[in-house]
Amino acid sequence: MSGTSPISSISCRADSAALEGLQAAKEAADRAEKRLRAAIDALPEGIVFLDEEGRYILWNQRYAEIYAKSADLLEPGVRLADTLRIGVQRGDYPEAAGREEEWLAHRLSLLNNPGMRHEQLLSNGRWIMIEERKTDDGGTIGLRVDITDLKEREESFRLLFEGNPVPLVVYDPRTETIRAANAAAAEHFGYPIGEMEGLAARALFAEDEWEEAQALLATNCSEKDRFWRQRACDGSQLESVLFTRQSVLAGERATIVSIFDVTERRRVEARMAYMARHDEMTGLANRAHCRERLHGLLAPENSPESVTIALVDLDHFKAVNDTYGHLVGDALLAEAAYRMQALIPKRALLCRIGGDEFAIIFRKASGDQVDLVAKSIAVSLGTPFFIGDHSLHIGATIGIACAPRDSSDPETLLRYADLALYACKASQRGSHRWFQPAMDVAAQERSRLENDFRDAVHKGDLEVHYQPLINLENGEVEGYEALLRWHHPSHGAVSPEVFIPLAEEMGLIDTVGQYVLQTACREARDWPPNVNLSVNVSPLQFRSGNLLNTVLQALSASGLAPERLELEITEAVLMDKGPRSSSIIRSLRALGVGLSMDDFGTGYSSLRYLLSYPFTKIKIDKSFILSLQEEDNSRAVIRAVIGLSKSLGLTVTAEGIEHEAVRDYLREEGCTQGQGYLFGKARPAAELGLFDAGRNAA
Ligand SMILES: [Mg+2]
Repeated sequence: MSGTSPISSISCRADSAALEGLQAAKEAADRAEKRLRAAIDALPEGIVFLDEEGRYILWNQRYAEIYAKSADLLEPGVRLADTLRIGVQRGDYPEAAGREEEWLAHRLSLLNNPGMRHEQLLSNGRWIMIEERKTDDGGTIGLRVDITDLKEREESFRLLFEGNPVPLVVYDPRTETIRAANAAAAEHFGYPIGEMEGLAARALFAEDEWEEAQALLATNCSEKDRFWRQRACDGSQLESVLFTRQSVLAGERATIVSIFDVTERRRVEARMAYMARHDEMTGLANRAHCRERLHGLLAPENSPESVTIALVDLDHFKAVNDTYGHLVGDALLAEAAYRMQALIPKRALLCRIGGDEFAIIFRKASGDQVDLVAKSIAVSLGTPFFIGDHSLHIGATIGIACAPRDSSDPETLLRYADLALYACKASQRGSHRWFQPAMDVAAQERSRLENDFRDAVHKGDLEVHYQPLINLENGEVEGYEALLRWHHPSHGAVSPEVFIPLAEEMGLIDTVGQYVLQTACREARDWPPNVNLSVNVSPLQFRSGNLLNTVLQALSASGLAPERLELEITEAVLMDKGPRSSSIIRSLRALGVGLSMDDFGTGYSSLRYLLSYPFTKIKIDKSFILSLQEEDNSRAVIRAVIGLSKSLGLTVTAEGIEHEAVRDYLREEGCTQGQGYLFGKARPAAELGLFDAGRNAA
């Protein structure tokens, strides 16, 4: 179709213009496509465009890379269904193996009804997530994302989760339910694993802790010291430590909860805590618990309330224990605890704070109430106990202090109650006493004195003085009694009646006794040979068993003849039954050492003692001598003792002679030896004027 007509010429021009326009449009379209291709090639995901028949229009580089095995099949106009079928035949889709048609049909149905994400496994092991949408013109736009790494992470999480020996659950904060639980969690809570999924999380917590638990489940928490009470399937209580981690699993927010079962540990801890605070035998609170309670009640932050502590000490318990054995002793303690428990108010706490020591902590009790309880305990524990076949007699002595009157400091209060107990023991066992401030003053004074005395012993500040023993017939010195003197740096001379008992209680009597014997024997060695030495010994020196050795050492170190030494002992030594005192006395006598019964007439003065032991002298106590002029009875006693001594062949010495008339009377009565201020007080050896005489005589 050709022509030169103007119309055709116009037509020709028009055609040419149209062609040019078309050309320009095509070029523009090409440029746009290039730009589009460049843009989609830059995307990290695979992109594919299909037409309404499912034929390839466009795909990007990433898409070709993902489906590298099928890349040779990718051509515009080729149907995706055909490339899939060939791919299946080639084995590019491992999931299709053995069910090729079924797989293909499912895949195509997804393609035709897009909107649902799905995953696809390729033969190279990569997992691809596919998301497809319909376009306005009936075509399809498809997205391919390689999710292999994510799948691997999910898989390792799954393995770690399911196979973990620690109970783990995944909590869904949106529905407040358990999304997943591992076998350990199911076992921990006692649910079949299937029932854990979808379970309301609330069912696993103690009702009153659910609100806190919700807060916990919404955070990351790894608090080791918070113990959660949880509920098992059967309703029993569990205790757990919970760690939580916020996470996103399969696109959903989730909390991963690790559960550490501490039920058993807490039970053991509770048991141990109980044991640490209770006495095993009686089940009562122990000393630590007593202190703790007292500290708690008297803590400054607590509102002040009256707190009274009573310390109960069982009298004669040791004797029962020694005589009948521990089994009986223990049964007795348990019975005593039982009796006391029945007598104390509900709010009071009974504690066993030592072997046979108990304490009662009263709260808001009046003095009268405490008095009543203390009295009833003393009566109750003073009533015989029947243990096995034995009828046992003990008793109770009680010391009481109260806060805030005496002190609000728990340790001071305990000390005060102890001082009251001590005072009560000294005055009247089997009763009770309240603390008095004077007790503290006395205790402090005593404690200072103890320190000073210990110092004096260690520094050798104690001195031995000598008081003459006079032959009443001729007035000559027959011997000296060694007497210990303590000159306190600030108090001056302290009476032996004060510091000797102190030495005994402080356990220093052996040391002190040794010092006196050694010093006196050494000094007496230089006296004239007819002048003897008398040394007092304490019953405690007999008890410790060192006396014989001490005497032997003092004699051998000094070289003093045993016959010149005389030991003055009191009846208390003889009242200590048992073979020990008796054998020591006989051994001493066998050495040749004289034995004097001191302070005769003040104790039991049993004649049996005089007959059973090898005494060489009796010293009539000075109380009889001092009252001799006024008391007929004293004179009668003196006469009897002198008569007795004579018939037993013993020397008799009268102590405390201060007047010549008394001396004369005693001499006339037949008393052979005298001692007292009339003849001289005790003085240091150097002032006796004997040193030279001794030297000359020797
Ligand atoms: Mg004496």
